[in-house]
Amino acid sequence: MAFNPLHAVSHYRGRFAPSPSGPLHNGSLLAAMASYLDARAHQGQWLLRIEDIDAPRVLPYAARYIMQQLAALGMYWDEEPVWQSHRLDIYQQKVDYLRERGLVYGCACTRQELPPEGAYPGTCSQGLPEGRQPRSLRLRVPLGTEQFEDRWSGPQTHNVAKEVGDFIIQRADGIWAYQLVVVIDDGEQGITDIVRGADLLDSTARQRVLARLLGYPMPRVMHVPLMRDEMGRKLSKQNHAAAMDLTRPMKTLNLAWQALGFEPLSASNTTAFWAAAIPQWASRFQITSDRHINAA
Ligand code: GLU
Repeated sequence: MAFNPLHAVSHYRGRFAPSPSGPLHNGSLLAAMASYLDARAHQGQWLLRIEDIDAPRVLPYAARYIMQQLAALGMYWDEEPVWQSHRLDIYQQKVDYLRERGLVYGCACTRQELPPEGAYPGTCSQGLPEGRQPRSLRLRVPLGTEQFEDRWSGPQTHNVAKEVGDFIIQRADGIWAYQLVVVIDDGEQGITDIVRGADLLDSTARQRVLARLLGYPMPRVMHVPLMRDEMGRKLSKQNHAAAMDLTRPMKTLNLAWQALGFEPLSASNTTAFWAAAIPQWASRFQITSDRHINAA
């Protein structure tokens, strides 16, 4: 069914969008937990999207394993999971749409040719330099600022054209860029609310630029703090973040719950944990179950 923007306020549709490059770890559980709590506190839907677009980083069976991990922690998703690798046609269609509007251009620059930091200097924006072949595709970013409210961190202002410049939507290896596919998927799935880790706060302005150009409604966003190790380093697959202990689900759930700033819950099973956690989340973010009725 097509997404009806008139329902945008009255329906809550959230999602968790893991990249199956390995099992969930304690850090990625935080994003899963926050998005799950927010969806359930709004009596909304919580969708699972497998972000397997970056084929070289995908590990076979990781997606299935992630689903088992979520289920073991009592986090059940609504609807069939969406797999990005099955959606290549729609990504192509949307890029064609942007291209027809003159918003896409081929870029020949290699990483070595670009300044190490700062915005893309626009080298290929008016045509490729003599004798060069396009490697990647970039979006022609309109001038202007993006202002939005992050439900965790407050008001944000970014000037994408100045800070980032024309950014890549198709990488030199031919893979559609994360920024592009995430916006198309959120738009096509009618996602009203994005709750994810703070490492993606920086991407939000770029995603808003794309969403506007593609005619999608703007989802609300909340970026939750990242879980850190004792050294203050962000937990990630790259630094071998502690694997989740599924033999002790209460301990694992409480670890993420406390990292979100709550007092530990003593619950005897996952159902009891969520039954206690959801109302606490609702009260912290002043979510009333009749919000959707009032807003409609
Ligand atoms: N797939 C991304 C990740 O695992 C998350 C994308 C998103 O939530 O927008 O980091």
